Amino acid sequence: MVPTFRSKDGLFSEGGKEMFFHTSTPTEEMQQSRKLGELAEKMIHAVPTPFHHILADLSERGKLHRLYTQNIGELDTCFEYLKADLYEKACFQKVANPHIWTIQLHGGMRTTRCHIAGHIDQLNPQALINGRQETLLCAPCSIRSAEQARKRRKRRKRMGLGLGIKEANIVMYNKNPNDNKSERDTGFIQYDADKVPVDLVIVCGTGATLVGIKDLIKTMSTNRASLWINTEEPPKIPGFTFTHK
Ligand SMILES: [Zn+2]
Repeated sequence: MVPTFRSKDGLFSEGGKEMFFHTSTPTEEMQQSRKLGELAEKMIHAVPTPFHHILADLSERGKLHRLYTQNIGELDTCFEYLKADLYEKACFQKVANPHIWTIQLHGGMRTTRCHIAGHIDQLNPQALINGRQETLLCAPCSIRSAEQARKRRKRRKRMGLGLGIKEANIVMYNKNPNDNKSERDTGFIQYDADKVPVDLVIVCGTGATLVGIKDLIKTMSTNRASLWINTEEPPKIPGFTFTHK
């Protein structure tokens, strides 16, 4: 079972939140890598809920313009019509790309991202759990590094960019390792808010406690019909109230 994050007996109540903060010492990095690997292992075996199927169905019928998700388990993006494009780097020009339905605001746990050059690879939970450097070395970086070493030997120079380590492709609370992605998200948000005619903005399954999420809700929902679906009351967002609860 994949634990919920915010609920009473969820991951965060058991001190699990620390695994989503950037760490700095090798020991902390090892522990974090193991915990994330264990979580990824559970997530890989999880199956989409009926609500994911409803979203995918709406999208397939052309009724869903965009899904902004905070979920990192990728049970949404495994549907063809809800897929995300984590490989996309600079796509300001491509904000209207009809093949990108989902924006993963916090990244996803099915891929890794190399910490130097941002190379994307499939996430292998066991490699994260073992935390052995060799299995987490980024292959494109290794190839580039070997090539650089060969040229350096030829020119007798000494410099190199080093080897990338594959990390879970998620956004840490205290550090955004992927500036391109933030920039890209902003591009999508502006485009969707300003240019797209939308009948209804649905906010579901989030506590909307983060400032960034509140801003997103306000930006998307101002002057539009907005629906809050949750067992909890909606958050207080200055200058904004939902039209439907
Ligand atoms: Zn790399």
